[in-house]
Amino acid sequence: MSGPILLSPPDVGELEQEFVLRAMRSGWVAPAGPDLMAFEEEVAARVGVQHAVGLSSGTAALHLALASWGVGPGDVVPVSTLTFAATVNAIRYVGAEPYFVDCDEESGNMSPRLLRAALDDLSGSSRRVPAVVPVDMLGKPVDYGSLVEIAAEFGVRLLCDAAESFGATWRGRPAGSFGDASVISFNGNKIMTTSGGGMLLTNDEHLARHVRKLSTQAREPVLHYEHVEVGYNYRLSNILAALGRAQLARLDEMLSRRRRWRELYLELVESLPGVRVLGGKDDSEDNCWLTAIVVDPSVASMTADDLGAALRQCDIETRPVWKPMHLQPVSEGLQGMLDGTAERLFRHGLTLPSGSAMSEDQFSRVLSELRSAMS
Ligand SMILES: *Cc1c(COP(=O)(O)O)cnc(C)c1O
Repeated sequence: MSGPILLSPPDVGELEQEFVLRAMRSGWVAPAGPDLMAFEEEVAARVGVQHAVGLSSGTAALHLALASWGVGPGDVVPVSTLTFAATVNAIRYVGAEPYFVDCDEESGNMSPRLLRAALDDLSGSSRRVPAVVPVDMLGKPVDYGSLVEIAAEFGVRLLCDAAESFGATWRGRPAGSFGDASVISFNGNKIMTTSGGGMLLTNDEHLARHVRKLSTQAREPVLHYEHVEVGYNYRLSNILAALGRAQLARLDEMLSRRRRWRELYLELVESLPGVRVLGGKDDSEDNCWLTAIVVDPSVASMTADDLGAALRQCDIETRPVWKPMHLQPVSEGLQGMLDGTAERLFRHGLTLPSGSAMSEDQFSRVLSELRSAMS
């Protein structure tokens, strides 16, 4: 029962070892190979899209979608401010300017109302707005009904950052299947992992083909090395795809474990005044990647910071929710449509251990330490 309890460590075992060994023994150690093709097909089938391109990271997938669409200097790209830096970095890699959009209080997801206000505002300027990048915060899909409609109305593409929401659905349709393209991540802390990796998902055959080409140094299909555009070395390796296939076979089992933690956290929080689970209302379709609580210090007995410190004392890892990107020093000078919600969630939010590898005993320890810290 001792030892540190982490937020979301990788959950791998014998099946993963077997798949990786088999890939190595097959001789397909070099970049591409049959496991990569199969992994792409299996993920595409799971999400219900026509094309999946396996890449070295979710960040690479975001980058290449924007690059393939020709997003570049002078363009403005509205993006969730409450997100991990990777979402915003990809916009900057292509030389475009991120424009930060604040979120809904309940979920932390991009506010459709503020996105509309942002697009209204930007349409009065001379700058082009080629795409919008919403993020499925901690595994809760954004309000795709509204966002798809708004994007269509303003004629902008929707690049959905579903890095955290693989396995979730929105009105029965899988996360990763919305908009013009979606991105998922197989980083080590995500719901399933290839140790590092990501995928671009889309029904747009041209985009999938182009991203695949850009990810392999943009070689033209001739024998000698011929290049007419700048490429990248972003392809997922066959060995890592083998690991991904084993994880995918276990995805439902891992999802149900995270859901179990979510339900127990929800139950506990009911007895803690001033504490709620972020996005905990209507979460039946979420993948419950990370459970975060929001602590109202004017009602609760302590702040989110104090609570995090108390748990750290017991070797239980916690972390504040994303520091909004508009507050980051690296974002100095950038604009947005902001109302203070993301900042409030950052100040009062705390993510809790949610990994599928956590044992029942470890989870009981988290619950009892939480209960005693709050009493
Ligand atoms: C993890 C994550 C990414 C980046 O994925 P990598 O595979 O680590 O590059 C992008 N966006 C969000 C919201 C993430 O959580």
